[in-house]
Amino acid sequence: MDVETLTDAYRAGWTASVRCLGRDASTKKGTRACGQSVNLDLPSMIWTRGRDYPLAMLPERLKCPSCGCRRVFIVFSMPGKGSQAMMGG
Ligand SMILES: [Zn+2]
Repeated sequence: MDVETLTDAYRAGWTASVRCLGRDASTKKGTRACGQSVNLDLPSMIWTRGRDYPLAMLPERLKCPSCGCRRVFIVFSMPGKGSQAMMGG
């Protein structure tokens, strides 16, 4: 089964987490990696983005609340298949 939308991923039992690739602006010169990460709640994403929302468009919709960076790294964990990473920004 091809997994292309949020609903596809949810039905396939995937879980997703996102990590910020930006710099922490609160440190001097922003030299420290921000590194904020959070688990994405797929059912909530389906409610807010729509059931047919393409996974490929997810990274550009995410923004780190800590540093405001849009460069994010999404990791989908697929049961029995390991994980798949998706880069945004
Ligand atoms: Zn950040």
